[in-house]
Amino acid sequence: MIRQLVPESVCLACRGCCRFGEPDSCWSPALLSEEVEMLVRKNIPPLLITKEKRVRLLPASQEALYLCPFLEGAKNACKIYAFRPFECQLYPFLLNRAGKDVYLALDTQCPYAEEHAHDAALREYARALAGLLMQAPLIGSLRTNLHLIQAYPGVLDLHQLKI
Ligand code: SF4
Repeated sequence: MIRQLVPESVCLACRGCCRFGEPDSCWSPALLSEEVEMLVRKNIPPLLITKEKRVRLLPASQEALYLCPFLEGAKNACKIYAFRPFECQLYPFLLNRAGKDVYLALDTQCPYAEEHAHDAALREYARALAGLLMQAPLIGSLRTNLHLIQAYPGVLDLHQLKI
């Protein structure tokens, strides 16, 4: 598990995450191959995982949004928090492709990330996180799951990663 940057109380009070504008949004959780296997072992219905190794989003009943099926709306909490995908643990950081380069990037659409983007504590957290991603076993896992590296619009590139 990756130590979280955003305090839990802030996350639970925000209704930004886990909701998406399109059913095939690039922001929806992409899954490591080993996570697909793990979710199947935990009896998660296979229909909730797409062939592109993403969580299948479901249309919201009252809003023009698509929701992660693991979002417990009333509590605004993740039903699989203890074994949530690596990408969800990483957020508000992302693996961003910029041309041939890959960066650990920050999504400043997250209100906490926007407010603290230039804080020394956040920058130190990002430096440590970039180091962690470059170590085994994570680096090996990322190199075999290149679908997690995407071109995200509007993110703030922080550290180049040699993946
Ligand atoms: S798996 Fe959990 S944390 Fe990740 S998008 Fe779904 S509800 Fe949110």
